[in-house]
Order: sequence, then C-alpha cells, then structure tokens
Amino acid sequence: GGADIQPLQINEDINFDDIGGLSEYINDLKEMVFFPLLYPEFFASYSITPPRGVLLCGPPGTGKTLIARALACAASKAGQKVSFYMRKGADVLSKWVGEAERQLKLLFEEAQRNQPSIIFFDEIDGLAPVRSSKQEQIHNSIVSTLLALMDGLDSRGQVVLIGATNRVDAIDGALRRPGRFDREFNFSLPGCEARAEILNIHTRKWKHPPTRELKEELAATCVGYCGADLKALCTEAAIRAFREKYPQVYTSDDKYAIDVGLVNVEKSHFVEA
Ligand code: ATP
Repeated sequence: GGADIQPLQINEDINFDDIGGLSEYINDLKEMVFFPLLYPEFFASYSITPPRGVLLCGPPGTGKTLIARALACAASKAGQKVSFYMRKGADVLSKWVGEAERQLKLLFEEAQRNQPSIIFFDEIDGLAPVRSSKQEQIHNSIVSTLLALMDGLDSRGQVVLIGATNRVDAIDGALRRPGRFDREFNFSLPGCEARAEILNIHTRKWKHPPTRELKEELAATCVGYCGADLKALCTEAAIRAFREKYPQVYTSDDKYAIDVGLVNVEKSHFVEA
C-alpha cells in the first residue's frame, strides 16, 4: 500500500556541525544537491544541470548516513520544504516477483508528487545481491526499473537520489553512468585532526568535557578509528566513569553493561570522575 512511502518525518536534530572532518563534503553536497532543489530557477538560468544522483562511498562508520540525515534535517528546516525518503538497499528486495519494482515506482511517484525531494538509498549495493543465476534475473529487473525511473525524472533536479555504500565495486556499473549516480564522494577513515574534531563533537555536551590537550593526545593514539569507533570510545569512557563513581550499584555478578572492545586505548578512560 501507500502507507509506507510517506516522506520520513524528521524528529531528530542533526546539524552539520555534529559532523567532524567532512566540511568539504558538506559544502559540496549542499551546492550539488541541496541548493539546486531549493533554487531550481537560479541553476536553470545558468543552464546548470545538477546531478541526478550522488554516491557516498567508503568504509562503515565514516559518516555517510550521518551526512544524509543532516541534509534531511536541514531540508525539514528549510523555508521551502524538501521531502526526504530513506530506503535500505536490501529492504527494497522482496520475495514477491515484481513487488520490489512496484514499490520503487510508487516511491518515485510519491517523491515527484511531493517534490522537491531527496531519496536516500542506504547500502545501495544490497540492490545488487550476490549473483546466483536465479537472483541475476531479479537483480537485472530491479536495476533496470531503477534506471528507467531515474532516466524518467525531468532534468530540473527536483528529485535527487543519494546512494551510500561501502562496496562501490558491488554496484551495477549501469547505475554509475552519466545521468545516474555520476558523482562520487569517497569517504575515508578520519585523519588525526578529524578524529580530534569528532571526539570533541561527542564530548562537548558533557558536564566535564576532556581538555583540548587530552582530545588531541587521544586523537593521535586512535589511528584507524572511524567516527563510529570514536563515538563508542566516548560512551565507554562515560560508562567507566560511572562504574568508578557508583561502584555500589554493581553486585558481584553484574556484567558490565558495555564492552565495546576498545580497551587497547589506555587513555580511553578520559573523564575526571
Ligand atoms: P555504515 O556504512 O555503517 O552505514 P556510515 O558511514 O553510514 O556507515 P554512520 O552511520 O554515519 O556511518 O556513523 C555511525 C555513527 O558514528 C554516527 O551516527 C555518528 O554518531 C558517528 N560518526 C560517524 N562519523 C562521524 C563523523 N564524521 N562525525 C561525527 N560522528 C560520526
């Protein structure tokens, strides 16, 4: 039915400054995706055709979904409303033949009716499952439906697609041709400065946030940590502070609530309890 293709109601509040180390990508996405949706006449007057689709590629936990959610929040706050639809790649698949295609068509119709719209496909590689011969047919049918729907959008950029993936090679090549998902943003693990920024974001609302020196020292230690790891680290530190401050609430056979396996960072206990 149509009930599940309502635009996402945004009831979280993610701002662009909740995202560390990605300001370049944020700017590019605003200019490539967001502003063309809000000011189509301007871009048309310079005969600029905004991209139909962009791909966010890179390892898990590096902020791809976060950026899309921030765009959605900005959209919901923009003077002119932008509708936001979110789908997980694999959820589009269905055991019913033709059902996935039907749902995709409904989704695009709905997005066009409520334009300007952003459709976000998380884990879009899930639309291209491992190809057994039986699945190949299903896959091809879904991909060609998606291609036809994208090609059928009128070129004024009033509906734009964002795809996210950590396996860009697993995406059907046809989806990456010009006029489809033809801009790619390659997310990588954050560098030292970005890690410090992310640690700051996830501790700045603490009553006793760590000092800048400590954050920088930690950031230098956490080589190879993605944004999600850094967030988990902050949670772990808070839990440890709690254990230390309230040992009496634990009985001898309590298992500690959280163990995210990040104990190899000596300084992870960075709260002055
Ligand atoms: P996946 O491929 O697993 O979906 P992803 O790149 O979409 O990965 P997110 O879901 O955006 O990753 O990240 C998970 C969580 O980690 C975010 O909700 C956020 O709390 C934190 N995080 C990740 N990257 C950043 C960042 N650059 N700045 C601040 N927090 C971040």
